[in-house]
Amino acid sequence: MKTIDKSAALFTEAANYIPGGVNSPVRAFKSVGGTPIFFQSGKGSKMKDVDGNEYLDYIGSWGPHLFGHNPRFIVNAITRAINDGVSFGAPTAHEVEMAKLVCSMVPSVEMIRMVNSGTEATMSAVRVARGFTGREKIIKFEGCYHGHADFFLIKAGSGALTFGVPTSPGVTNGNAADTLIADYNNLTSVKKIVDSNKAEIAAIIIEPVAGNMGVLRAKDEFIYGIRKLCDEEGIVLIFDEVMSGFRVAPGGAQEVLGVKPDLSTFGKIIGGGLPVGAFGGRKDIMSVLAPAGPVYQAGTLSGNPLAMSAGLAALSHIKSHPEIYSQLEESSAYLQAGFEDNHKILGKNYSINRVGSMMTLFFTESMVDSYQTAVASDTKLFGRFFHEMLNRGIYLPPAQFEALFVSTAHTSQDLDYTIKSHYESLKAALSAHS
Ligand SMILES: *Cc1c(COP(=O)(O)O)cnc(C)c1O
Repeated sequence: MKTIDKSAALFTEAANYIPGGVNSPVRAFKSVGGTPIFFQSGKGSKMKDVDGNEYLDYIGSWGPHLFGHNPRFIVNAITRAINDGVSFGAPTAHEVEMAKLVCSMVPSVEMIRMVNSGTEATMSAVRVARGFTGREKIIKFEGCYHGHADFFLIKAGSGALTFGVPTSPGVTNGNAADTLIADYNNLTSVKKIVDSNKAEIAAIIIEPVAGNMGVLRAKDEFIYGIRKLCDEEGIVLIFDEVMSGFRVAPGGAQEVLGVKPDLSTFGKIIGGGLPVGAFGGRKDIMSVLAPAGPVYQAGTLSGNPLAMSAGLAALSHIKSHPEIYSQLEESSAYLQAGFEDNHKILGKNYSINRVGSMMTLFFTESMVDSYQTAVASDTKLFGRFFHEMLNRGIYLPPAQFEALFVSTAHTSQDLDYTIKSHYESLKAALSAHS
């Protein structure tokens, strides 16, 4: 066992001042048990905790660190921006450059607005869709996460066609009533809702490559079917690419799937590790936004020069090094193949879902292509496996229904060590389990 005394002491102290001791729930290790690790520093593929232990990192701050921790070009960009002034609350050239860059990388985006988180991006995109269509209801999919705005914190009741019920106290029934829940990869479930709410649906919002019920790719006929349905019914199609944007391809999941949404939302990589989100899309839709149009949306620190500089450095690097995606594909495929070999040796046929450098090791032997098949995973076994990996210095997302991320900083030694540790960890977890 690693010594994590300082982490444990900090967590105890934190719990006195911060609800649950953390500023975002999943960091608390609730679903895997144990004490969350407090970190001190990160470089490349590795992070060091406050007790001096080193870990190979497969979270990458939940997605932003496509190039690992603190790549020189991002650190330099932030440093230059600090010296010019950290905030003006007035326009800067960085914002124009950022907007042009995103529009050039993601063809469906003709206009864009910067915000400070993925949550802000998705809630604002829905407001725009409602303002544009004059309709109130939206459709989301069970298991998709779009940040923590009230009307997204809804899960399906037993009947997917009925109004959703709030997942969290504090979300009103009024808010829940306008959010209709469909089944991922099930076009019929979407059609049924649209049929029984004719001319009332403002938007359908979806993670085109889902990452928040574990990694799950939208099937072609499903996503093409949704695109067609939205065209026929005048519904705004929103791709939530907060995780998949710039992760699975320079143009995001929409490039991989070959489907053009009306609006897209971004976060994570677009900020280079600083707090940034963005939403954008068709010019006619985005033009309803204030001050060009009547739909209000604002932010004191939106387009902040430090955040823009970090994001610009990340996106410019992607644009000038498109070969990183084949490198990421190669190392991620290598990792997956190693895990699958281990499964064979151990006589297990666990499902691994992967799209580029996003991957989930599901602890279920059935194919995972829906929310229902994802939640069939053995989360207890995952918890044991997680802690075995942690003890071997490998930091995975501390919950089964998350994506792990490979970065360009992961070396072949890193990958080989991970595959070896996966074998030992799974073996130990299985024997403790039985
Ligand atoms: C992370 C995430 C969000 C929320 O972004 P925050 O910056 O955490 O508010 C929204 N949608 C998806 C798909 C995400 O992965």
